Amino acid sequence: MKIIVIGATHAGTFATQQILTEHPEYDVTVYERNDNLSFLSCGIALWVGDNVSDPNKMFYSSPDALAALGATMRMEHNVTAIDPVARTITATNLISGETLTDHYDKLVFTPGSAPVIPPLPGIQSDRVFLCKNWADAKKLHDNAEHINSAIVIGAGYIGAELAEQYALSGKKVTLIDAFDRVLAKNFDQDITDRVEQLYTDNGTHLALGQKVTGFTTTGKDITVTTDQGTYTADIAVLAVGFRPRTELLRGQVDMLANGAVITDAYMQSSRPEIFAAGDSAAVHYNPTGQDDYIPLATNAVRQGILIGKNIAAPTEKYLGTQASSAVALFDRTLASSGLTAAGAAARNIPVATVTIEQNYRPEFMLTTTPVVASLTWDPTTHQVLGGAFYSAHDVSMSANMISLAIQTKMTIETLAMVDTFFQPNFDQPINWVNAVAMAAVEKAKEAAPAL
Ligand SMILES: Cc1cc2nc3c(=O)[nH]c(=O)nc-3n(C[C@H](O)[C@H](O)[C@H](O)COP(=O)(O)OP(=O)(O)OC[C@H]3O[C@@H](n4cnc5c(N)ncnc54)[C@H](O)[C@@H]3O)c2cc1C
Repeated sequence: MKIIVIGATHAGTFATQQILTEHPEYDVTVYERNDNLSFLSCGIALWVGDNVSDPNKMFYSSPDALAALGATMRMEHNVTAIDPVARTITATNLISGETLTDHYDKLVFTPGSAPVIPPLPGIQSDRVFLCKNWADAKKLHDNAEHINSAIVIGAGYIGAELAEQYALSGKKVTLIDAFDRVLAKNFDQDITDRVEQLYTDNGTHLALGQKVTGFTTTGKDITVTTDQGTYTADIAVLAVGFRPRTELLRGQVDMLANGAVITDAYMQSSRPEIFAAGDSAAVHYNPTGQDDYIPLATNAVRQGILIGKNIAAPTEKYLGTQASSAVALFDRTLASSGLTAAGAAARNIPVATVTIEQNYRPEFMLTTTPVVASLTWDPTTHQVLGGAFYSAHDVSMSANMISLAIQTKMTIETLAMVDTFFQPNFDQPINWVNAVAMAAVEKAKEAAPAL
């Protein structure tokens, strides 16, 4: 069996590892455009803020490691065409310039995503930085010690983390987003209001609800113009999202409107010999039951493993995702899983929601601190659809509990009474996850029509 893998960061690396673990006799060739693989871009902002022990530890595999498993590694090779009928790919060796054609029985399509670069005047500038891969990371890190100010465009997780690290290292920071809240896709206003206060307290200027219209670069700085103002700094960093890099298969397999390859539960595309995973593929989003585009390493890793398990025959199904995620900003933990109220409204899904605030452990302890917990549920079935947490205490694992609740279609009534431990070092007699579910049950009773 001849397998070709296109792209090896997370999905391609895990797929290759799993294929060769399950089928050491398979002939696997990996094509990767970069000279490295398995880079954990989630560490970029931390590295920019000098909070990384050793940047080489931001890789968990290597071309040599995959070669040791039996893969033929074609690093610094760019795949330029796929012929799904002839089952061939064409690639260019980026060192020699040579072009080659290779044949596959099955194709693992994992070229991931590309940063969105809006076609705005002046955006092609040496003062505009991207934040995606190892090359971007090195540029951002090397540049950080030479700058006094930065404009970060995009207040999603990536922009939010970069802005925080720049602010903590004493730079003058402006954070711009077209949404009128930071982290607007991940958290509702009861939490984002608190986060915005943290940015302001740390000297970051928030330019929210503003659309960037252009860039002007001079010899010493860059000015970003929005529909409401102008901002000048040493550099601008673009973090406005990602698009699936799927041009090579356009028109050849079924895709979402944004180009993400749709797969079945075994990671097979509409051409069963072509498997897709990671940022180039759609995910099954359990809170809505729909295919969606949620580019996260968590999805890439699991989908990559599943390709390995299903490459010979459909064997193990993908469970879907709740898009669980977490971030630490200014010593606060933010974590969420599933739908927010705003996310549900954007998808026209009716939900009920409640937010509570309680100290994470009893007041008799020498210290304690509040946890803000939100829950979102289906008002008809009472199924849990989402949850979010914010605290100076590390409450990140609570999002994983909500993930389990969504995955298992748990109701708010069950989550309210599900067994959790109590011990005063760690939590209250009623843990905050049970507590927010209890508040949901009370709210649902109030909303129920009188008999
Ligand atoms: C700054 C940042 C922080 C993040 N933080 C988190 C986090 O904390 N948690 C989380 O879950 N996710 C996080 N993510 C998202 C996560 O990094 C992505 O979901 C993940 O990298 C997707 O992996 P992938 O292998 O599918 O795609 P990619 O990482 O996009 O890798 C695709 C690979 O394919 C190669 N390639 C593309 N086209 C070709 C071609 N034609 N020929 C040869 N090779 C090709 C590319 O060079 C690349 O190596 C973060 C992303 C960024 C950018």
